[in-house]
Amino acid sequence: MSMNWDEIVGHQDAVSIVKAMLSTDKIPHALLFAGPAGIGKRLLADRLAAGILCSNDGEKPCGQCHSCLLFGRKAHPDFTQVAPDGVSIKIDQIRLLKNVAALTPAVGAGRVCLIEDAELMTVQAANSLLKLLEEPPPGLIFILIAGTSKPLLPTILSRCRKVAFHPLSATMLEQALVDKGYPPAAAAIAARLSGGRMGKALTLLAPEGLVSRDMALQLLASIQQVDMSGVWEQTTKLAGLETKKIVTVLEFFLYLLRDLLVVAGQYGQQLLYNIDCVQELADLVPAWPESRSMAAVTAVKNTIRAIEGNANTRLALEELLINLKDWPEKGE
Ligand SMILES: [Zn+2]
Repeated sequence: MSMNWDEIVGHQDAVSIVKAMLSTDKIPHALLFAGPAGIGKRLLADRLAAGILCSNDGEKPCGQCHSCLLFGRKAHPDFTQVAPDGVSIKIDQIRLLKNVAALTPAVGAGRVCLIEDAELMTVQAANSLLKLLEEPPPGLIFILIAGTSKPLLPTILSRCRKVAFHPLSATMLEQALVDKGYPPAAAAIAARLSGGRMGKALTLLAPEGLVSRDMALQLLASIQQVDMSGVWEQTTKLAGLETKKIVTVLEFFLYLLRDLLVVAGQYGQQLLYNIDCVQELADLVPAWPESRSMAAVTAVKNTIRAIEGNANTRLALEELLINLKDWPEKGE
């Protein structure tokens, strides 16, 4: 694996904390990497895990030793990973960690357990983990990675050393993407739409990356059509996706509504997220006065909440689109 720290863009504070921990060999029993999804928490957590496991004496992780090579091949026997099974991390998954905790290191330098999306632990799972954190097995380091969608139990928080991650500025992210070799125009769009999150920006720059955004744009356009067929077509298409993807499309829909406000208010293109859709947005502006866009933002946010709260997806989407289409008859 590459050991170039420069590939971690931004997050200077988090990087210096991790570097200091590795160089002084003072690693807390439990760490929490907290911040929005797709921001670079996993990249740094992996670097820290490799460093803890590295068996060389110099700068860790060295990238050369047996341990580092195993880690790079995702085959390190002293590295355990837990991720959500479906929508949550279940108690059985945490119970299995007790068996892991009872083992001694196979390679030698220590052991690391990484819990991804830790905020998705069920209360039972979190309480089970708490017992492990309260009496940490010697030589086993827990790294919890948590997004911002749900809070962690305060009892878990109090047992972890927190390392906070914040979004990068669009300019910094754009430059980093250009440095990675992406075309400047694409980098500019991805940097803005990703909300300062490198992982999200890279997803957007992947060949199919803008599919969700384009679906949101089609959705917006279908609302303007005279008959309902476009709306039904879009609803069917959307409702067939996984919940996470539906929410992503609706989030892009919010960005488009926000951009409509920017275009309508003539605030200038530097404030636009979807800078490649200026013409499409400008064409829609006459039909979307500020009051309509604002009402739509509220309606979309409510729909996201309903869908995340396990409402019937299809019904929630139909209700949203009918409401948006009926405006202003219902809205005013
Ligand atoms: Zn090493």
